[in-house]
Amino acid sequence: MLMRGAGLRRTLAQSGIEISPLAWGMWRTTDTGQRIEDIDRLLHAALDSRINLVDTADIYGFDGRSGFGSAEELLGQVLAGSAGLRNRIVLATKGGIRPGSPYDQSPAYLKDAIDASLRRLRIDHIDIYQIHRPDILAHPQETARVLEDGLASGKIRALGVSNHTPSQIEALAGFLDASLTVTQPEISALRIDCFENGELDQAMGMGLTPLAWSPLGGGRLLNPQNERELAVASSLDRFAHDRNVSLPVAAYSWLMAHPAGIVPIIGSQNADRIAEAVQALDVEWSRGEWYEVFTAARGAPLP
Ligand code: NAP
Repeated sequence: MLMRGAGLRRTLAQSGIEISPLAWGMWRTTDTGQRIEDIDRLLHAALDSRINLVDTADIYGFDGRSGFGSAEELLGQVLAGSAGLRNRIVLATKGGIRPGSPYDQSPAYLKDAIDASLRRLRIDHIDIYQIHRPDILAHPQETARVLEDGLASGKIRALGVSNHTPSQIEALAGFLDASLTVTQPEISALRIDCFENGELDQAMGMGLTPLAWSPLGGGRLLNPQNERELAVASSLDRFAHDRNVSLPVAAYSWLMAHPAGIVPIIGSQNADRIAEAVQALDVEWSRGEWYEVFTAARGAPLP
């Protein structure tokens, strides 16, 4: 049987920060016009299930016209309203997507973005600050300097990247004295690029924890749209039926079986679904079962 790659907590490289093997994400937080009470309830559903890693971003809540920063603002209000809550979570946020630019990691912008996130979140430090998407026009040496300054001033405890290629990660890491601790690519049974394009190999080699965004393919695993998606969903469904778990639990545990120690970021805004997700910790895969899903995802037999 394949191991899940982690116990109940794991420590991010060099930082001493302990995270849960699943995270909860706030990308969809303002989709349905949620209020402080809703966020408080969902956050507690995660904490009650021993999920301590919360992923947000300054862009979350932006609808194309307005709302930039609104997810962080809501989370900040929840944290400010409950003594001690801040210290129970590992707060990961992101910056570097700038509406209209579309990406900006120029030193002045990035420095201000970090300060603005701190203000909206009403906290004095960000546990994990991630560059959301690479700005091709930013030199990684300049980006590294701003991130190092954030660490030195205590505004940031650990660094990460999202949607970066292995060479972009290598370039940034080369200019940093501190280690990168997380990388956040899209990974699901419907998005398997990183299993073979070097991203996960690099993560293992550098000791980066991969956080998987859209681990259910943004919900498409529950609502497959084409022949390939149907084949992947059916394969997961057979396994789920066999183990008496739901398809999402099968899908999370499939990612967690990878040796890189992938942390799926649950996107659900439903407290029961967040609570159910931790069943994935008890699910083990045989190699044969795992490769059956992988083969369905490739859409072609393995050589
Ligand atoms: P996902 O888990 O792949 O999809 C979540 C969607 O599936 C929700 O709309 C959810 O609806 C739906 N769903 C339907 N049935 C479900 C079930 N039984 N259990 C759970 N969900 C079910 O994740 P995601 O929301 O696309 O992304 C997750 C997180 O990844 C985000 O919150 C964000 O933190 C991160 N992310 C990062 C990037 C990046 O560029 N770095 C991009 C996208 C996302 P309900 O809410 O109704 O349950």
